[in-house]
Amino acid sequence: DTPERRAQVEQDLNRALEAGYALLEQGALAEDAVCAAIRVMEDAPEFNAGRGAALTSEGIVSMDSCLMTGVDGEVGSACGLTTSKNPINVARAIKEKTKHVMFAKPGDNLLKEWGIELCDSEYFITPARQESLREAQSNGDEWEKHGTIGAVARDASGNIAAGTSTGGITNQMPGRVGDSPLPGCGTYANNDSVAISCTGIGEAFPSPRRRWHDRRPRPWRRCDGVQQRDDELRLEVPEGQLRAELTP
Ligand code: ASP
Repeated sequence: DTPERRAQVEQDLNRALEAGYALLEQGALAEDAVCAAIRVMEDAPEFNAGRGAALTSEGIVSMDSCLMTGVDGEVGSACGLTTSKNPINVARAIKEKTKHVMFAKPGDNLLKEWGIELCDSEYFITPARQESLREAQSNGDEWEKHGTIGAVARDASGNIAAGTSTGGITNQMPGRVGDSPLPGCGTYANNDSVAISCTGIGEAFPSPRRRWHDRRPRPWRRCDGVQQRDDELRLEVPEGQLRAELTP
């Protein structure tokens, strides 16, 4: 991590926030703001999503995304994406254009039908991620642990939404899927409680055995402006993995 990189990340985060807020100010839906913010971060190579996503052990991207709306619990999610410029758009298309919840590796023809912009695999691969992969493969899997992105928003009607986009973890096996695209694991929104996007090693979320270890009561970081009422959710988010914020 260098000061230059940190400055760049902060600049990109500010641009993402501004993109989301600008829409909320115009009366757009919470999910519009979430997707706009996420697209900015997917396009920025600093984050583990879209361009700059983590690389699998085969040196390619395999991206996951999820979008959930709190007013109705509707959700769209995708995993194993290799050509979608903005994976969050795929999650939204699934949520809004199909009767299904989750797609694995939707084909390019279907993606085009949904209006998704496609890119060659080279677009996504950055020198920094190639270096991380080399390190992970030579140092027994020490991987760059940051960069999965998420956004939550509340719109003028009081509805909330959450979205997550990730390349998973560096050097993951081909076909591996983490928590991010799993509704109720990496991404969750419910108008009655919270909108949340999580990061960390995704296996901790869907695996009952691993989650069991996290059931010890422990301090957790409270989000400003959120009345947390879901004890189950609270216990299952280990400290340090919660990075959601709601606009008051
Ligand atoms: N949760 C993501 C995954 O396991 C990775 C991350 O958050 O960095 O795929």
